[in-house]
Amino acid sequence: MKEIIKKSAAEQFNAIKNKEIKAVELLDATYERIEEVENKVESFNCLTKDIAYETAKKVDEKVEKGEELPLLAGVPLALKDNMNLVGYPTTASSKILENFISPYNATVTQKLLNNLVPIVGKANLDEFAMGSSTENSAFKKTKNPWNLNKVPGGSSGGSAAAVAALEAPLALGSDTGGSIRLPGSFCGCIGMKPTYGRVSRYGLIAFASSLDQIGPFSRTVEDAAMLLEVIAGHDMHDSTSLDAPVEQYSKNLNNDTKGLRVGIMKELLVDGISDDVRKSFEHAVEFYKSIGAEIKEISLPHIKYSIGIYYIIATAEASSNLARFDGVRYGYRAKDCKNLLEMYTKTRAEGFGDEVKRRIMLGTYALSSGYYDAYYKKAQKMRTLIKQDFDKAFEQVDVLISPTCPNTAFDFGSKTEDPLSMYLTDIATICANLAGIPGLSVPAGFDKDGMPIGLQILTPVLSESLLFNVAHKFEQANDYYKQIANP
Ligand code: GLN
Repeated sequence: MKEIIKKSAAEQFNAIKNKEIKAVELLDATYERIEEVENKVESFNCLTKDIAYETAKKVDEKVEKGEELPLLAGVPLALKDNMNLVGYPTTASSKILENFISPYNATVTQKLLNNLVPIVGKANLDEFAMGSSTENSAFKKTKNPWNLNKVPGGSSGGSAAAVAALEAPLALGSDTGGSIRLPGSFCGCIGMKPTYGRVSRYGLIAFASSLDQIGPFSRTVEDAAMLLEVIAGHDMHDSTSLDAPVEQYSKNLNNDTKGLRVGIMKELLVDGISDDVRKSFEHAVEFYKSIGAEIKEISLPHIKYSIGIYYIIATAEASSNLARFDGVRYGYRAKDCKNLLEMYTKTRAEGFGDEVKRRIMLGTYALSSGYYDAYYKKAQKMRTLIKQDFDKAFEQVDVLISPTCPNTAFDFGSKTEDPLSMYLTDIATICANLAGIPGLSVPAGFDKDGMPIGLQILTPVLSESLLFNVAHKFEQANDYYKQIANP
């Protein structure tokens, strides 16, 4: 592995700007690294070398002409395989989309290409982003770079593993109920979910549209802040994207945090948290005390219902969003069908995996006549109460903290037979999607087996600058982020 591969995205970007390395050379070194570890880690569904080299060459031409480079130009990135990159497959790790080629670019992809960020490959995920371990992928098992017998977390497991295995310093994931923060925590990197609507979802395959949000993975807070600057902003193609100015997040990392009020989310510190995770969390609390923050225990009485609410709303929206995969317009179509109805049913029976089918059935049930009021409507009302819990909490404190997950990465197969225990891994993350607020997982230590632990930080809507600022303080005072996995 070349030394440059160990550098952060910011450092790689500077090396290109200062002519210490050409973008094409950096890309060569990146693919060399991918070659070295990919057969063990299996982060990618496919590599996208043509577009990556085409982009890197443009960067070098600009440097040669003495032109200014856009932010992160030349810095390699892994794209979750549920976002469109024109001319390449977008599979969502599902058999039903195995041969689907993106007809257009997602807005995030277009923004990356505009900034000349080379996209090195499409990263594996749980099928349609449904899962917490990436084991639901129809294609491959991505391994945790810290221990190949363990899952990378999910659903953006390929993106997190790629960053942790130094296959790319940057990646994009999508977070509907923790799918960026959880794998970030399991793989020891930064995983950040922006405010709902901060980043356009145009060209992202929809799972649960009122919860989905795209966000960055990286090894440092600064890199995540820079990447969010590139991808955030209003988009006329996504009516839920927010028309609010994009701040220079990476310039606010060292803001003074004098008078900071940090809230501990009481309901998330109950039984079931592993001793090592608890210790790491106590250490984080001590850290914020030591920099003069005021620490308050905060009760959010309704977040104990988060998982139940989420699995009604998310499955209901998924059942509707996934109706479009019927063999008519996209992807897989079953063979030898006698009539249209058989074509629909066989296509869906053969094309979708078990977890996706489970969600479609649950969601269809929750929306069906007679049950709508009892389940879906009630869940929406409860969601409002959760949002109000956060509004009240943020009157008393500036940020909220909790462990990202009660446990560290688990062994393959250990939760697949029991969906409920899998669903519980998201106990701390889902509430942020329900409330629409931004959240981030920052490396906060290791358990006794050497597996990474994450600290989750949450802030009010559109206060990403504060979120990065508070995470950066913690990161810089601890050297966890400097340790790298050796798959
Ligand atoms: N693990 C959660 C689920 O299975 C969250 C997934 C996600 O955020 N995409 O639905």
